[in-house]
Amino acid sequence: MLVCDNGRVTASIEEIRAAPKVLLHDHLDGGLRPATVVELAGEIGYGKLPSRDVDEVARWLRRGAHRGHLNLYLDAFQHTVAVMQTREALTRVAAECAEDLAADGIVYAEVRFAPELHVAGGLSLDEVVRAVLEGFRIGSAGRGITVYALLTAMRTAARSLEIAELAVRYRDAGVVGFDIAGAEAGSPPSRHLDAFQYVARENFHITIHAGEGFGLRSIWEALQWCGAERLGHGVRIVDDIQIGPDGTASLGRLASYVRDRRTPLEMCPSSNVQTGAAPSIEEHPIRLLRQLSFRVTVNTDNRLMSGVTLSSEFATLAEAFGYGWRDFEWLTINAMKSAFAHFDERLRIIDTVIKPGFATARAASDAVVRAPGRRSAGTEAAGEWTPTGTRP
Ligand SMILES: [Zn+2]
Repeated sequence: MLVCDNGRVTASIEEIRAAPKVLLHDHLDGGLRPATVVELAGEIGYGKLPSRDVDEVARWLRRGAHRGHLNLYLDAFQHTVAVMQTREALTRVAAECAEDLAADGIVYAEVRFAPELHVAGGLSLDEVVRAVLEGFRIGSAGRGITVYALLTAMRTAARSLEIAELAVRYRDAGVVGFDIAGAEAGSPPSRHLDAFQYVARENFHITIHAGEGFGLRSIWEALQWCGAERLGHGVRIVDDIQIGPDGTASLGRLASYVRDRRTPLEMCPSSNVQTGAAPSIEEHPIRLLRQLSFRVTVNTDNRLMSGVTLSSEFATLAEAFGYGWRDFEWLTINAMKSAFAHFDERLRIIDTVIKPGFATARAASDAVVRAPGRRSAGTEAAGEWTPTGTRP
């Protein structure tokens, strides 16, 4: 058990890890094991790492990401992408990704990558996709996890239609959707309309990084011009919410639309702080958006660069906001409902894996002797507490 500074007892990281979780926003090139980066770099003679010491490389990649701006954050990826240019490397990285997610208690994940970044060694786009899907298959076998791929096009480049076609081509082989990512300011999603319209015509799925490095206009374009079903981050939707002197929230047209339509927000708390999309965890909009019942989900973004796991992100929120099991379950079911897997598969995982898993976690938590004045996480009402004390 872990005791927050507000006195509430909540789950420990080990207990959170044991609960069934769902991850919708995780980048393959942002989640490599540091040892794998060093090993693959050695194999191909890549000379831009500062050392062959695994811990030092890990610290260096993380330090690079903590610089307060999305474009600086993205800088570290050149080194991971550089070692992911062969079929074997891609399959290995994907397999280890699936293994690591399973070890973190994740039962369903959609992991994204940009095929166009992995062709420098002579692979075709199709070979890149096949190598990654093979890795997911190997890494998830027998581990109680389902891993699907999202194909990302770089918003600063001009290959989005090609990547959209690639995604649709592999829809029955493990690809469940299409995304665009990269530096957001100056590269609006509407520049890639032909790709989004193609995906929509094919009855396929779209998520778009929006409202992270840029504001409401980017979110509006993603939804109303490009047909995004989910928003990558979407943090800046809070710019369309006013809080009155009495604490009452009033939603603008766009924020109302996002909430009314139950548009999933793929929020990544630590990454959002590191890129400057949120000032701190304590001031992260996830708390307000969760209180206002937006379709909030919690994600890792880049496990290596951000130094997180999904379990550690949940623990971070528990510590900052006193989140407990009901919050974790609500966030997890939100994520599973918002997945791009078919409806019957989503329902099966909710009913047979997530709900029983959280019931077990809550029961174990409730069985712990409660100290006077402390509440068990299992008895918490789902996010309906009133902000008190020094916590905003
Ligand atoms: Zn992302």
